Amino acid sequence: MLHSLQALDRAHHLHPFTDFKALGEEGSRVIERAEGVYIYDAEGNRILDGMAGLWCVNLGYGREELVEAATEQMRQLPFYNTFFKTTHPPVVKLAAKLCSLAPANLNHVFFTGSGSEANDTVLRMVRRYWVVKGKPEKQWVIGRENGYHGSTVAGLSLGGMAPMHDQGGPRVPGITHVRQPYWFGEGRVGEERQDPEAFGRQCAAAIEERILELGEDKVAAFIAEPVQGAGGAIIPPESYWPAVKAVLAKYDILLVVDEVICGFGRLGEWFGSVHYDLAPDLMPIAKGLSSGYLPIGGVLVGDRIADTLIEEGGEFFHGFTYSGHPVCAAVALRNLEIMEAEGVVERVRDELGPYLARRWATLTDHPLVGEARSLGLMAALELIDPASGERFDEALTAGNLCRDISFRRGLVMRSVGDTMIISPPLVISHEQIDDLVSLAREALDETARCLAPRVADEPPTEEKPA
Ligand SMILES: *Cc1c(COP(=O)(O)O)cnc(C)c1O
Repeated sequence: MLHSLQALDRAHHLHPFTDFKALGEEGSRVIERAEGVYIYDAEGNRILDGMAGLWCVNLGYGREELVEAATEQMRQLPFYNTFFKTTHPPVVKLAAKLCSLAPANLNHVFFTGSGSEANDTVLRMVRRYWVVKGKPEKQWVIGRENGYHGSTVAGLSLGGMAPMHDQGGPRVPGITHVRQPYWFGEGRVGEERQDPEAFGRQCAAAIEERILELGEDKVAAFIAEPVQGAGGAIIPPESYWPAVKAVLAKYDILLVVDEVICGFGRLGEWFGSVHYDLAPDLMPIAKGLSSGYLPIGGVLVGDRIADTLIEEGGEFFHGFTYSGHPVCAAVALRNLEIMEAEGVVERVRDELGPYLARRWATLTDHPLVGEARSLGLMAALELIDPASGERFDEALTAGNLCRDISFRRGLVMRSVGDTMIISPPLVISHEQIDDLVSLAREALDETARCLAPRVADEPPTEEKPA
């Protein structure tokens, strides 16, 4: 049964972000069911899902209330569109709920089916806004290197993932990228080892430099994740966001905060924007909005933009068949109600986040770990070669090795290069956090044992790549 499924998968299924040939040779892992914070594969192995699906199953698996919300809504009204002056109860209630949870200046929502579609919507709205405002020359959008905003053409263009850009064909023009506030990767290295806070200010200053290069009246918006997720759980230095806010205010540039991962409690607040005290003009959301039970995304729209588009914009020629899908909206609404009723966000902020931080920090003494960092329930480990204190040779793919070992030992931990990441369900218990950290340590131990002979075999290199 398992082998026939794998064979059919190999024969007919092209997986996202996957080397098709390599996967075909290895065979895919079949996940059959899940409960709480655990997934179970077809061989019956129980695996602690340290990534909450893909940063989204915030309430954990097996929540009957969400199944019921979907079932009830499917019976009542499985689909109707929200084009052409129609609406339905779940989408209205969800919009109102989202606005009550978001920072005070955000009082409207545009719904989409995913985070990528949310960022396509962002690009359309940003450019439309400035045209309606009578400043059509404000068209440039500044994103960041190694930022992730999805995989549609607009999403990948706003994002700064070099491998995606190299494969993506022509990108949307008028988008440029500045350096990311990644201290371990770019501030710590080399002889100019910098103080993290000075480095954070320098990264914000790079935005101002780019604005002046492009022309100070030509920039429409800046887009960033509060904490970079797919880029490697990169927590910016504390100096970064206040300095960014000041630069954007100085040149009247819109702030787009991509909350697709950080929203809905990941950082211990309802939104990363609350943690960093940001008042975004646009806030794309998805993933945790429905705890991943059904696909739904959206953009929370600030008053400044909403008022302009409502009063002066005329028809906005944009939308998706499934914008505000009733079943997805009903599940998202129930998800948010459960989070409120169970105090999930406060618990991450006051108990689980600080507890994970303490336990995760104990991994710092591992010879393979150059840095252990966390915020809320998102955490990363930077792998280093104990012999040099620097990165391993890229050819060793130490991160992938550690990820595969970890999975085999019962913990889903993701790798981004040689950065190991976790982002577990927000309902994880203290005990399960202890297990997670123990499993991560065992995976590090086995990775070190595997790598030791390979590192010894490497011919001495003269220069390490930056
Ligand atoms: C996942 C993600 C997206 C894209 O969302 P999809 O639902 O996969 O289209 C956009 N932005 C961020 C920050 C993400 O993590």
